[in-house]
Amino acid sequence: MNKIAKYLNQHLIGNVFDSPQILEKYSTDASALKITPQMVVIPENTSDICRTVKFVNQLSEKSVYMPITVRGSGLDKTGADLGDGIVMSMEHMNKILEIDDRSRLVRVQAGVTLGQLNSALALYGLTVPILTNSLDTIGSLIANFATDSAAGKYNGIYYYVDQVEAVISTGETMQTARYSRPHLSRKTGLTSFEGELYRETDQIIEENNDLIVDLGNRNTIDASGYQMITQVVRDATKSFDLLPLFYASQGTLGIITEVILRCEIFQPEISHFVAAFESINAAQDFIQDIMPLVPKELNLYDARMFKTAVKHGKDPALFAPKFYKGYFVLAAFDEKPRKNAKKMKKCLKLLPNNAAAVIETEDNSVEFKRLKSAIRSYLNDDVKGERVAIVDDFYIPTEHLSNFLTDLKTVEKTYDQELLVYGSFSTSNYSIRPDIQLNSVEGRQFVLKFLKEFDDLVREHGGSITGGTPEGRLKALVTNSLHTEEELELYQRIKDTFDPKNIFNPGVKLGASETDIVRHIRTSYLSGIVE
Ligand SMILES: Cc1cc2nc3c(=O)[nH]c(=O)nc-3n(C[C@H](O)[C@H](O)[C@H](O)COP(=O)(O)OP(=O)(O)OC[C@H]3O[C@@H](n4cnc5c(N)ncnc54)[C@H](O)[C@@H]3O)c2cc1C
Repeated sequence: MNKIAKYLNQHLIGNVFDSPQILEKYSTDASALKITPQMVVIPENTSDICRTVKFVNQLSEKSVYMPITVRGSGLDKTGADLGDGIVMSMEHMNKILEIDDRSRLVRVQAGVTLGQLNSALALYGLTVPILTNSLDTIGSLIANFATDSAAGKYNGIYYYVDQVEAVISTGETMQTARYSRPHLSRKTGLTSFEGELYRETDQIIEENNDLIVDLGNRNTIDASGYQMITQVVRDATKSFDLLPLFYASQGTLGIITEVILRCEIFQPEISHFVAAFESINAAQDFIQDIMPLVPKELNLYDARMFKTAVKHGKDPALFAPKFYKGYFVLAAFDEKPRKNAKKMKKCLKLLPNNAAAVIETEDNSVEFKRLKSAIRSYLNDDVKGERVAIVDDFYIPTEHLSNFLTDLKTVEKTYDQELLVYGSFSTSNYSIRPDIQLNSVEGRQFVLKFLKEFDDLVREHGGSITGGTPEGRLKALVTNSLHTEEELELYQRIKDTFDPKNIFNPGVKLGASETDIVRHIRTSYLSGIVE
């Protein structure tokens, strides 16, 4: 074991590992990249994290640079949870610390997964209504500002987080809270590093007021940079909270250790409705009509996905195969059973004559479940290479969707492969998974070429490739060049304020570089199942 790992191991309750097979496990995520860390730290508590950060600071005084990348479940699709220094895995920081069912608040460690949290809350009749991968950790949902597919109805993670505790770059902890102006001096008056964060952020906002107002007024949904600076000072009272800066920060400003979340009443009855349309325009007209019914989820799928799934024996059999072209719309309602039934009837009424639709009943419920596994079959199809997540979670405004899909057909021809869109209409957040042969030089060159061309296409249609999740490492290749000089200066100043020694996840967001990315594109395929 190397000296640094051994020293840390002696001082932490948790573990530090540097054996090659363990490092290998933490060297990949759901992205096209692979970066092997020098060691993996698995903290057992917040003190372990503070000690590690303080130790990294001491090392930097001796000119040894050992940056820290925090990792939740390792499902990032841009390589934002990979690093070549310490990878700090939050897997043991997964305790649910308090559930207060009366005030509907829950306090958790940041490594708790969404699935663990909601299973525990269900016992109290509560839920945090975020609908994404149940393995996602709560810390990363904030750090990745993930747009989930129920966000159209429930507003997403931002709406549910009350406060966080984070370890900042000196190794101190801080708790966020919203302070009214008269009370802010409690924080700005502190002589600690935390006090400096409050003073300097306040100053940054004052000096960049016009730019921040401009960022806040933009229509495009885009999680790149530190755009949540727009939410630090809020409303007429000019109240102040550092919490928004942690959204989309991807472990670059601090390590989130604990989170207090607000919950909703759990509604277990979910009814689905699916309809097939020959054209996107017909699908879209229908979707617009049923939006006022406020479904929990409103998803769109290129129906060709199901043709692929049938090859694997995964035919949801909701429709005859003749419908496996065009688009599927899936709506989920989560009201009381009678209200669900009423809403689904309304959907049927709004359906155009030539479209086919199926309402979920007790008898066909299994087929609806098979629909989701059919999509998983498609994503894990035995293609020439691998369906790699390089442009997942992009944003296309509804009014541009139809033209975007028409132009995508041209891209399919250029690359001679099907590029099937799937995603959430209610959040305008979609994905496609190109088939890439990462084991060849051409395949690896394709990653960057496609990323850049796809970004152009998305922007032509008023969207952004960082609508659903931030740029991380891979997408930063294009987003960094899109920021104006003024924006870059603002974002860099935020980063320098919070992390003057650049020890937190330095290779992502503004710190990403093409050379680093090219060096780290995987040369082999992921061994696990996607999704
Ligand atoms: C199959 C699949 C489906 C997905 N579907 C969606 C979707 O529908 N919508 C969507 O938005 N995203 C989706 N994602 C993306 C994924 O949900 C997010 O990337 C999620 O944040 C990953 O969770 P994680 O715990 O694995 O985080 P990781 O990948 O481990 O980390 C993500 C980022 O958060 C940082 N981070 C993690 N924990 C902390 C912490 N405690 N403090 C500070 N920073 C931290 C990491 O450094 C990293 O930058 C999907 C991913 C997969 C693989």
